[in-house]
Amino acid sequence: MSAIGADRDTRPPVRGGLFRKYLVSFLVVVSAALIANNVIDAIFSYREQQRLLIAVQREQAGAAADKIDQFLKEIERQLVWLSQLSLQMLPPEEMRVTGIRLLRLTPAISEIAQLDPQGREQLRVSRYVRDMVRSNTDLSQSPAFVDAKARGIYYGPIFFFRETEPYITVAVSGADGGVIIADVNLRFMWDLVSQIKVGNEGNAFVVDTRGRLIAHPDLRLVLKNTDLSGLPQVASALAGNADSDAGSVVTDLAGKRVLSVHTSIAPIGWKVFVELPTHEAYASLYASMLNSALLLLVSLFCAFLAALLLSRRMADPIRALTEGAERIGSGDLDQRLVIRTGDELQTLGEQFNRMAERLRESYLTLEGRVAARTTELAQARDQAIEERAEAHHARQAAELANETKSRFLAVVSHELRTPLNGVMGVLQLLDNSHLDGRQIRLLTAAKVSGDTLLALIESILDYARLEAGADKLELRNFRLDQLIEADLDLLRQEAEAKGLTLGLSMRGDVAADVAGDPIKLSRLVLNLLGNAVKFTARGSVQVDLAFDTLDAPGMLHLSVTDTGIGIAPDIQERIFEDFVQADSDIERRFGGTGLGLAISRRLARLMAGNLSVRSELGKGSTFTLSIPLDRAQLVPAVVETRPPTTKLSVLLVDDDPVNRDVGHALLVRLGHEPVVASSGAMALELVRSGAFDVVLMDVHMPEMDGIATARLIRKLQLDRSPRIIALTADLSDRTQGRLTANGIRARVGKPITLQALQSTLQAGVDDLPGAPVGASELTAGSLIDDDFFNDQEELLGVPRLRGLRTIFLDTCLPLTRSMVEAASMGDRHHMQRLAHRIGSAASALGLERLFFQCNGIEADAARLPADALEAVAVQLEATCRESIAALNERLRESEQA
Ligand code: ADP
Repeated sequence: MSAIGADRDTRPPVRGGLFRKYLVSFLVVVSAALIANNVIDAIFSYREQQRLLIAVQREQAGAAADKIDQFLKEIERQLVWLSQLSLQMLPPEEMRVTGIRLLRLTPAISEIAQLDPQGREQLRVSRYVRDMVRSNTDLSQSPAFVDAKARGIYYGPIFFFRETEPYITVAVSGADGGVIIADVNLRFMWDLVSQIKVGNEGNAFVVDTRGRLIAHPDLRLVLKNTDLSGLPQVASALAGNADSDAGSVVTDLAGKRVLSVHTSIAPIGWKVFVELPTHEAYASLYASMLNSALLLLVSLFCAFLAALLLSRRMADPIRALTEGAERIGSGDLDQRLVIRTGDELQTLGEQFNRMAERLRESYLTLEGRVAARTTELAQARDQAIEERAEAHHARQAAELANETKSRFLAVVSHELRTPLNGVMGVLQLLDNSHLDGRQIRLLTAAKVSGDTLLALIESILDYARLEAGADKLELRNFRLDQLIEADLDLLRQEAEAKGLTLGLSMRGDVAADVAGDPIKLSRLVLNLLGNAVKFTARGSVQVDLAFDTLDAPGMLHLSVTDTGIGIAPDIQERIFEDFVQADSDIERRFGGTGLGLAISRRLARLMAGNLSVRSELGKGSTFTLSIPLDRAQLVPAVVETRPPTTKLSVLLVDDDPVNRDVGHALLVRLGHEPVVASSGAMALELVRSGAFDVVLMDVHMPEMDGIATARLIRKLQLDRSPRIIALTADLSDRTQGRLTANGIRARVGKPITLQALQSTLQAGVDDLPGAPVGASELTAGSLIDDDFFNDQEELLGVPRLRGLRTIFLDTCLPLTRSMVEAASMGDRHHMQRLAHRIGSAASALGLERLFFQCNGIEADAARLPADALEAVAVQLEATCRESIAALNERLRESEQA
């Protein structure tokens, strides 16, 4: 056992499964063998013992039977001898003396009678009565006489003389025909039976042919004339033919279990029984069995010890192996197994050790590799983080630069366009005067340059607006074929001047009315056509138009194919980028800004479509445009201002006083009955108390916003629920989603225009599609949008506008100051709320620059760097002052007019 162990002290708890299994198996096998051996031995011993006992008893029974037989035979011989002394031969007295001598010689005979052949008694000699000679008593009918005469000998039944001793009558027929009858005392048999020693407690007894007890050590039983025919062993002996049996275990007269053996006394059929109580008969067997059991116990104990030893010897190395493997498995690779059993287990242990050693080596290598890889990854991660931060900064810078560029372009172009228009006007005037040839050439050159410059500025403006995402689609109904034909007409003169043929093919439902933005589409098509004519010296320009209406929306496919100079493959994608031309030679020969295709692709994308090119240098190009277009639907193009068919009671809810005032005026103008509320709570009160057809609800309000208010109004479950129309300039997906989720689908954009208001109120259903109707576009960066202002002036009148100016002044100027404070504290959220309020009021008066700046702050305040916040707020305050000044100026002009 000491040969087995691990070289560590920390042994895991012993798991005895294997050990127990071995122990139990061993014990079961050895115990079974030992017990089986003992049991079989006991069975054989028992049989052997029984056989021996039976043999001994049979021997005793046989000896007793022989003696009784001899005794009877002796009596018989004496009687035969007596019978031979015929009465005729001896005188009666001598016969008497002979009889007396016989009684003396044979003490068992107590009386002798001699009968003549006729059965008459001739002599009687007795130990108890007086001898009688020639009494002539007739005994010819006695069974003794009859049986003896018939068979030669007669044994009578047992009888008891004076109830003390058993007797039997024996009769023998003589040669002269007479019969000798003798009463024989069977006490001799009692002596014989009593002398038989059967163990300590056993005994022998004799029964006659009827089962009566005739000899037993206990004479009283014999004298009681006991009938034993009821005992099973006696009954079976009387019934059986065999003289002796193989012995059996039965119950004796006293009720004890005995081993009984019997044998027969041949001439008279008596049975001699020899019986020994089983407890005595088997005593030695039991003792030997007890010894065997004790020996078995000792053997079992020894077997247990041996099993313990062997199991341990077998289980311990396996357990050591298991524990070692477990520790190796749990990562303890320094673990070594020490098993010295000199067999396969030792080999296995050594294999384990080798395996652990290899594992340890490979772990060490692996750990090194992992550490190196981890360091590499950490470095890569740090680098990636750095690069990401740099990229983020670069992107921010690029976005800022791009935004700045767009603003710059928009402002510069817008500001350039006005004076340039003036210059062109002056040139137009000069054209009419009388000038000499050189002046006319110079003038023409100036006009061409001016036109080019104007075109450039227009392009830049378009580009800047698209870039800033300010350009929106203006949906109208129009016919595709008419639009394309009109565009072709515009270019026809120029093309023909160059000797080019202009072709148009049309497929599909091109004559149907479609809903789209015809102006932007036309601009795009003209651009493609212009390029095609410009870059084609001879040949043709072919336009293919198809409108595929199999699915909804339909698909417009338009391609412009020319036979011009073509575009090199490597530049084909780049020409769609800003300010890119195929090469400098082209710029020199054909002029242009390189913005046309950039604008065209942006327009195509704005219309959810795509623009692509296929071209071969020197052979020509095909530009293909694909745009989804719906069939015409009810898009209010121009809404006339006409009185409403029904007069509606309208609740206008807006937190901004300027908007409230404008909205109120517009509603009155449209012939409705407006009531105004400045907050959600107030609106809720009014709706509860009065019946309204429509609630015009500003979405962004402090405390309770328009959507929450609308939800509460719905919950009131009024008999006649008002229709709710949202007022909002917020086109964000989130707000649109919230509106739709709250069941508000009708929307009027801010600033509110008369047309938008009228069409939405008249639509009467809550499912107007798309963007808020009539969201009037304040698109450029001037202080006041003239067109819008003119509309407002016409609608509301100068005095009301002046009132609005005052309200604006009172509310918004302080708000811009609050904005500066909020910016200094970095409260972006408050800045956004203030921007919304100022922007909302500014839009109602057409103060477009202020409106845009407010929109910018509302959208970007959360993202702007902290140091930029204050600058933005200060800028807004300045714009507000400028806007007020411009407004004053504009109002003064109107008053003068
Ligand atoms: P530009 O306004 O200067 O024409 P565009 O963006 O419209 O700029 O076009 C960019 C460049 O693409 C042009 O300078 C020209 O090199 C090339 N290009 C455009 N259309 C055609 C065409 N139909 N055939 C050949 N080249 C073309």
